[in-house]
Amino acid sequence: MKLDSFIHFTKVDLMPGVPLYVYAIKGKDYSILIDTGIKAMKAPVLDLCNEVKPVKNVLITHAHADHIGCNKSVKEMTGAQFFAAGALPWIEDLELHYREFCIPGEHLPDSPQQRDEITGLMDGAVHVDAVISEGITFRPSPEIELTTLALPGHKLEEVGFLEKNSHTLFMGDVLLAIAAPFFHGFQTARGFRNTLNRIEDFIEDGSIKRILAAHHPPLEKGQAKEAIRNSIHFLNEVEEAVISSANNVEFHVLWKDVCQKLNRQLEFRGYAMLEVQVEELIEDKKLGKENGKIFRV
Ligand SMILES: [Zn+2]
Repeated sequence: MKLDSFIHFTKVDLMPGVPLYVYAIKGKDYSILIDTGIKAMKAPVLDLCNEVKPVKNVLITHAHADHIGCNKSVKEMTGAQFFAAGALPWIEDLELHYREFCIPGEHLPDSPQQRDEITGLMDGAVHVDAVISEGITFRPSPEIELTTLALPGHKLEEVGFLEKNSHTLFMGDVLLAIAAPFFHGFQTARGFRNTLNRIEDFIEDGSIKRILAAHHPPLEKGQAKEAIRNSIHFLNEVEEAVISSANNVEFHVLWKDVCQKLNRQLEFRGYAMLEVQVEELIEDKKLGKENGKIFRV
């Protein structure tokens, strides 16, 4: 489907209130695909590649299963070069992706069901051809200038792509899927706040007029600002719940308590996110930890 003269997309609904968009940028010289969706989207994603062909570059916003799910099929059909900003082993080795992402352990038992759920989103590993970072620019047409922005938060090495002439920001999960029944979490709360403020500044100074994010419909300026506010509100809610649950308890107790307070499933994403939040609050001297027990300072 076509969004405008040079942006094409396809979309599925992952769960109520959580869509997944995959975008392609059609240039005169070549085209670019941003993320590859989930394995179940194989047919529409390959159709999208055909619509804009030739796709020569695939840019990965971050190495989560729902953004790299058709990597293998896209690689086989287009022969495109793959670019990512980090966490390359999660793209190149899906078994390691599962082990490190889903952190099976004492409080997070592994299960065939969980394994199928996560690994079943991806069709196979691909080799990442080059690492990208802030400032790297792609020009698929003389009038299309797509510049990489480092957007740490949801994932540490997350990136977005700002098309400078249309003032369009393409990105992954900096705007969270807040409607998900689990915590759509973060790897740095501090970094996340900086990233959201940075994007808001770009909206204010006119550099960004539209945001095309993976789990949101296309957002014009006002809607983008509202989505940013919702993400900041989520960060505040998590921080407050963690502080109020820190009643001299072990981490797994705090984790369960916060999940219950904010009505989210007990699973690995929330576990990893809350570990980060606790660490940062200890660094900020709002929480302390002694003999494995976490308490307010
Ligand atoms: Zn993600």
